[in-house]
Amino acid sequence: MPRPIDATHDPALRSWVESANQPDADFPIQNLPFGVFRRPGSSQARIGVAIGDQILDLVQCHGEGLLQELPMVVKDACLAPTLNLLMFLGREASSSLRQRLSDVLRSGAEIPSAANLLVAMSEAELLLPASMGNYTDFYASIFHATNVGKLFRPDHPLLPNYKYVPIAYHGRASSLVPSGTPIPRPNGQRKRPEEAEPSFGPTRSLDYELEVGFFVGQGNALGESISLNTAEDHIFGLCLVNDWSARDIQAWEYQPLGPFLSKSFATTLSPWVVTLEALAPFRCAAFSRPLEDPAPLPYLADAVNAEQGGIALTLEVYLRTAQMREQSLEPVRISRGSFQQMYWTIAQMLTHHSSNGCNLCPGDLLASGTVSGSEPGSQGCLLEITRRGSEPLQLPDGETRSFLLDGDEVIMRGYCEKPGFARIGFGECRGVIS
Ligand code: MN
Repeated sequence: MPRPIDATHDPALRSWVESANQPDADFPIQNLPFGVFRRPGSSQARIGVAIGDQILDLVQCHGEGLLQELPMVVKDACLAPTLNLLMFLGREASSSLRQRLSDVLRSGAEIPSAANLLVAMSEAELLLPASMGNYTDFYASIFHATNVGKLFRPDHPLLPNYKYVPIAYHGRASSLVPSGTPIPRPNGQRKRPEEAEPSFGPTRSLDYELEVGFFVGQGNALGESISLNTAEDHIFGLCLVNDWSARDIQAWEYQPLGPFLSKSFATTLSPWVVTLEALAPFRCAAFSRPLEDPAPLPYLADAVNAEQGGIALTLEVYLRTAQMREQSLEPVRISRGSFQQMYWTIAQMLTHHSSNGCNLCPGDLLASGTVSGSEPGSQGCLLEITRRGSEPLQLPDGETRSFLLDGDEVIMRGYCEKPGFARIGFGECRGVIS
């Protein structure tokens, strides 16, 4: 069940942090995403909330007595070096904290020593938001699955299980990195179709995948499963994910067990976790399946999910090459799509994941798979945009790209807009191939 819309979403709310009141700000007072950061010169990881171009330091807020009225466990969770404890406490805890922070940050709130509570985002080091024990990557865009399937298996692009099973593989949690971390070009076994044997060396087809990640809040006990109608109570919030992929390594290794070293070298996360509370105004119907498609099996279907299980989140990818950087050219947008077009909702993915009794844990990361839409220009990876490199992308400075070259920087952005509500953004998920 989606979270309710309440006073924290009031579009008339303003913050005493002036930069949060700009109409194009990613982090107005209606957003309040959580993250983990270090103050300049400090080694201590702290929880913060993005507000305009600043971070509200929750350790400092606690020290000033601003969290006084919250339950002890919630205050303790604010002092932790990761969001895991807050995630574990569940939706009431994060909702009560959000209410309190909205009061602290609104214009007119009488906050003594307000300046001490803030750190400029540009001066802070942004870290991974949680300690992630597990990372599972889905494949929930039917447009992505069909486009990729056509390239690798022209005769039967979409396998017969796709419309029944939310497909996923278990990713590698240890190589999840925060936005801004340089990405070395991985080595691996590659084999071109015309080559008789594989060789080992740097990937020749490095790609990005635009994805949406979601963090497990309260988990489930081993042997128990989570039903669809309670699934969202187990989701804390969302971030942007770049599932870097070496397509030549992937094509050679993926059969019969799926992706392995083509994916596990690095996955980049945006630092701010936008909560399901913040996203409440932007919920929408789940993707409407063509009439000829099978209905989901009963454990993956209910009316609330069909009517409100989607999220109207716009997603964009920008590219800046080394040459563009030298010429001081701005990154160029190479795609724009919407999370609304996913074949499976986040609630369906989480429910399916736990349906065999697999225990999900607070801080586990689930990602959607590449977000590609039906429209031209909405494809979430170069594999699709360039048709496996055969139709290179033309860049404004005259360069072309089939896949990523060293020095290329990929920047992902996401935002929600709706008349009558404040726009909220996800910030950036950024990485340079080194
Ligand atoms: Mn992926």
